[in-house]
Amino acid sequence: MKQAFIPPRRTIMTPGPVEADPRVLQALSSPIVGQFDPVFTDLMNETMKLVRSLYRTDNQWAFTIDGTSRAGMEAIMVSLIEPGDKVLVPIYGRFGYLLAEIAGRCGGDVRTVEKDWNTVFEAEEIVRLIDEVDPVITAIVHGETSTGCIQPLEKIGAACREHGSLFLVDATATIGGVEFRMDDWNVDAVAGGTQKCISGPSGTSPISFNDRAAEKMEPRRQVELGIRSETDEDAEALPVRSNYFDLTQLQDYWSPRRLNHHTEATSMLYALYESLRIIAEEGLDERAFRHTLHEKALMAGVQAMGLEIYNNHAHKLPVVTCIRIPDGVDDEAVRLLMLEEFGVEIASSFGPLKGKIWRIGSMGYSARKENVYHVLFALEAALTSCGASIHHGRAVAAAMEIYKKSNSAAEFIST
Ligand SMILES: *Cc1c(COP(=O)(O)O)cnc(C)c1O
Repeated sequence: MKQAFIPPRRTIMTPGPVEADPRVLQALSSPIVGQFDPVFTDLMNETMKLVRSLYRTDNQWAFTIDGTSRAGMEAIMVSLIEPGDKVLVPIYGRFGYLLAEIAGRCGGDVRTVEKDWNTVFEAEEIVRLIDEVDPVITAIVHGETSTGCIQPLEKIGAACREHGSLFLVDATATIGGVEFRMDDWNVDAVAGGTQKCISGPSGTSPISFNDRAAEKMEPRRQVELGIRSETDEDAEALPVRSNYFDLTQLQDYWSPRRLNHHTEATSMLYALYESLRIIAEEGLDERAFRHTLHEKALMAGVQAMGLEIYNNHAHKLPVVTCIRIPDGVDDEAVRLLMLEEFGVEIASSFGPLKGKIWRIGSMGYSARKENVYHVLFALEAALTSCGASIHHGRAVAAAMEIYKKSNSAAEFIST
């Protein structure tokens, strides 16, 4: 018999998956209960409330899709996009392409506009496009982990509302770490993941959508044949082209009708519930503050080493810090040394940025003082070992300075 798998303890400073809070890991080991056990349906209802708070929304519809973030986006898109619908997707990094790809597979008439991977869109550019294209749906990423940029959404949301375009957002990178206001920003549907600032394992996607979105999918509602009652009829419009991701069926499952759909991922829901409880205890504003504090300390350390931060501008994503890899330094050799010698993981990037930048995440439970020190220390040692010319012995001290200065907020600096 093979031995049981015992994972090593890592300091995970990537943009996901990140370290799970120990309380969440404990929740994962709780016993299974049946999916229609009142204890479990209560948990479903309580989770809905916490998902609403997470997205700052009053929407009735706030639940989970079993699958990672893209499963959440796919459920939203396949349920909302009818073949031929014009879908505008502004792209400023890898995950924008993913939205366009999913929209295309759903039969959308996809119109994309692309930005270089070192910036975001001016709201006016997108407002003009909404005017020109007149899209049924506009979909965009809030925080691009591939480039370390964050797209302001408020004005785009307002323009979508004015033009009657449904506004869809992928908030995977930001939710639980950076301010996100679904209702204030006129976001009609949103999906996130659990493996980033929510600090649970990947595998479930909290989503929410409002009545405007629900109205668009209503004519497509079709109850599965084997579980129909006499009043259930075929859909008026083309039924949603996915069973698993059909939000109209999931509405019937996550509401008092409790119509059987898939078997809810019991343990994942325990984990998400505990993650969201932790977030509610800390407070969304306090949590955002904590993330920017660790970001500042991390940036100070990186810069003190003499390294250059990529995309260090007003639209830098606070929970991802990108660093230009110094000339002549081998990306993979440095990351391997960090992992093997120090148990610290950081990430490379994708597409045009692969081998050009490193990405350091400071998300959720991984955004801790000890982790920031640890990653700076390991990076300095690995760069030195690989012969890079950097300033020695300054990085950790520079981060310490930041923490010292923010003493007044000491209670948020968990270690
Ligand atoms: C990390 C990330 C994802 C990852 O989604 P998966 O379903 O795990 O592939 C999606 N979107 C954004 C914006 C991300 O940052």
